[in-house]
Amino acid sequence: MRAVVTGGAGFLGSHLCDRLISEGWDVLALDNLVTGVDSNVAHLLENPKFGIQRADVSKYIDVPGTVDYVLHFASPASPVDYLKMPIPTLKVGALGTHNALGLARAKNAKFFLASTSECYGDPEVSPQNEDYWGHVNPIGPRGVYDEAKRFAEAMTMAYHRYHKVDTRIVRIFNTYGPRMRLNDGRALPNFVFQALSGMPLTVYGDGKQTRSFCYVSDLIEGIYRLMMSDEHLPTNIGNPQEITLLDFVERILRHFDNPPPIVFKPLPQDDPKRRCPDISKARRILKWEPRVGLAEGLQLTLVHFKAVFRKK
Ligand code: UDP
Repeated sequence: MRAVVTGGAGFLGSHLCDRLISEGWDVLALDNLVTGVDSNVAHLLENPKFGIQRADVSKYIDVPGTVDYVLHFASPASPVDYLKMPIPTLKVGALGTHNALGLARAKNAKFFLASTSECYGDPEVSPQNEDYWGHVNPIGPRGVYDEAKRFAEAMTMAYHRYHKVDTRIVRIFNTYGPRMRLNDGRALPNFVFQALSGMPLTVYGDGKQTRSFCYVSDLIEGIYRLMMSDEHLPTNIGNPQEITLLDFVERILRHFDNPPPIVFKPLPQDDPKRRCPDISKARRILKWEPRVGLAEGLQLTLVHFKAVFRKK
C-alpha cells in the first residue's frame, strides 16, 4: 500500500508519515518547505519505504506509479504564517485540494482532507459539533485560511458525491507537540520561546479566550482510525479539555524556575473567543478519545523545545 502525504515535512504531516510507515505503508511526502522543514523527516530518509519530493501542490501534482491513499496536509496552519502568506494559503486550500483530489481520482486512490476547527470561525456555540455551520468572517485576516478550508471541504464532498472518490475529512483542533516550529507564532511555541529567552510572555487580549490543546500522538491516532473507517462526513479530532489562555500560560510557567512576567497585547482581529471540540462522534464511530493530559504533553513538548533552543 502506498500513500502520498502532501505537507509531509510539516508538523502534523511528518508525524503522519511516521505512523504510516510503522503500519507498513510506503510513503511519498510532497512539500514545498514554506513552513515544513527537512529535519522533521531526516530520520526517515534512509528508510526504503519513504521518499520525499519537493513540490508545490497548488500546481499540478505529478506522481508516477500506483497510489492507494492521498492525504492532503499541506497548508500554513499558524495564524502568523497565514497572515504572512495569505495568497499561498488560499491557493493550497483551494487549488492544492483540487489537485490532490485529482491525483486521488486518477489513481483510483482514497482521499483524506486535513480540515480545521477554523471552519467554525468564532463560534456562537460551545462545544462545537460537526453539525454546526460556523461563524466565519470571509474577508477578515483569518478568512484566507478558514474559507480555503471550507472550500476544501466543499470540493472534497463534491468529488465524493459526483466522482465517487472515497473521501474522509478531519476537523483538527489545536494540536501541540515536538516538531512545532519554535518561531511559528502560535501560543505554545511563542510562550516557550519567550520563557527560554527570559522575555515577557505576550498574552493577546485579556487571556480569557479559551482553547483545547491535543497532544500530537493522540491526534495522529484519531486520524489513523478515521482514515481506516468508512466515515465520509467531517469528524472532529481534538482534546475536549478547554482552558483559558491565562491558565495555559500558568501551566507552561510551572516548568520554569524564574518565570518571566506577562504583558498583555491587543487581541488579533477575529480571534475566536472559545474553542472546544465535541468529540462524541469520534468516540462513537472511531472508539477514540485522547489519552495524554496537558501536564504530560507539555513535559514531552518542552524537552523538544529546549533541545531546539539550545541548538539555535
Ligand atoms: N496568543 C497569545 N499570545 C501569543 C500567541 C497567541 O495570547 O503570543 C493567543 C491567540 O490570540 C489565541 C490563542 O493564543 O487566542 C491561540 O492562538 P494560536 O496562534 O496558537 O492559534 P489559534 O487557536 O488562534 O488558531
